Amino acid sequence: MKTTTHPQNGNGSYSQIFRVQTEALRAMHDFLSGRGLIQLMPVILSPITDPLNHSVDDAYITYNGQKLQLTKSMILHKQIAVSALDTRGIYIVSPNVRLERVQSSDRHLLEFSQLDIELKTATASEFMTLIEDLMIYIISQVKATCADELEKLNATLRIPRRPFRTHTSWSLLEEYGPHYESEISRSEDDLFWITDFQREFYDREDPEHHGHYVNYDLVYPEGYQEALSGGERDYEYYVLVRKIRERGQKLDDFAPYLELARAGMLGPSAGGGLGIERLIRFLTKRSNICEITLFPRIPNSIIKI
Ligand code: ASP
Ligand code: MG
Repeated sequence: MKTTTHPQNGNGSYSQIFRVQTEALRAMHDFLSGRGLIQLMPVILSPITDPLNHSVDDAYITYNGQKLQLTKSMILHKQIAVSALDTRGIYIVSPNVRLERVQSSDRHLLEFSQLDIELKTATASEFMTLIEDLMIYIISQVKATCADELEKLNATLRIPRRPFRTHTSWSLLEEYGPHYESEISRSEDDLFWITDFQREFYDREDPEHHGHYVNYDLVYPEGYQEALSGGERDYEYYVLVRKIRERGQKLDDFAPYLELARAGMLGPSAGGGLGIERLIRFLTKRSNICEITLFPRIPNSIIKI
């Protein structure tokens, strides 16, 4: 088993990287608050969390006889919060713990930060437009405020143009085979969308096309792969129950969330989660995600500090 060294950075470029991170986070807050979204604080302990689309080891603690999971993503709380509040939308910079089983990876951390966004009653296309504008704003701001840092890091940034190109997951599967995401990410020059993935129960199934989903991933070019995952959401009790069962998951694992759905307290929304470390890796053009964090938690290695 590997031990992660500390600090983990080949070329002494931390100060430039964290300056880029500071400007990117500032741009994110300015943009989203400017669009009328409100910021909420994260939750990290809850009896419920995202079941995710792939299996990871469970991370939980027991307190006062209650089993509490560490947040894998804030999706369920986001849906509850945006339904309860009188607002256009919410955003949260949220710590996520995902004890990944991958052997080695240049883009996974066991603990990372996610920008979670959820828009009330929005369509996928409204959300995608907001995200395109957000990414253009972040990249433009970082280019304008971090020219020296980017030069030292040898990072060249292109400002993408709207609308971003869109592919469906099934057309890419047909063209490139099962590793389509990494293949197409290498061949595109600008950020692009992949839509219609069969995944978690909360992403909305297309009522007009059985077996299709109103969801999306935003993908970086130059081989940097996934930036954001999200979708329109299902929120009606009987739909959620059916989809949880279809996935072989237990209704009990989502009991308090399903109670709210049954009481009609979830409403339509669309949103997504953007990995912050992956964004900074893309902006600073680092090859490995552990280069942009001082305390990397790398899958399948010993954590030293
Ligand atoms: N499912 C996303 C995630 O992987 C979050 C979202 O859909 O908003 O974290
Ligand atoms: Mg994802």
